[in-house]
Amino acid sequence: MAWRTAKSLILLRAQIDALAPHRSRASDGTIGDAAHAAQKSDHNPWVMDGAVGVVTAIDITHDAHNGCDAGKLVEQLIASRDPRIKYIIWNSQIISAVNKPWQLRAYTGKNPHTHHFHLSVLPERALYDLEHPWPV
Ligand SMILES: [Zn+2]
Repeated sequence: MAWRTAKSLILLRAQIDALAPHRSRASDGTIGDAAHAAQKSDHNPWVMDGAVGVVTAIDITHDAHNGCDAGKLVEQLIASRDPRIKYIIWNSQIISAVNKPWQLRAYTGKNPHTHHFHLSVLPERALYDLEHPWPV
């Protein structure tokens, strides 16, 4: 199936790349690998834009030494309450705009997300493709 990444997430990655051009990309990702594909994950292109599946999640590697501090980026994203955000996972915590909105909760998934943060955006095209600069 044809797939693409949500435009808002490509923009976020470009903004972070501009801020931290030498950052590690070791834990970056958009479309799911085999492990993701077996689970319910926004890394799977389950959101349909016509015949094209849209990946509505991104992972950005934590690399504070090279200017990409996931903790700081996540703080900025949370503070913004950006309407595109569905949920964020970082450092064993999850915060959602949908479930218990904007309350930091323990994240007990298999991967504690200490090497990257995860951002999912909402499945409406007006939001996931919105190319308004992120507050990072
Ligand atoms: Zn992820």
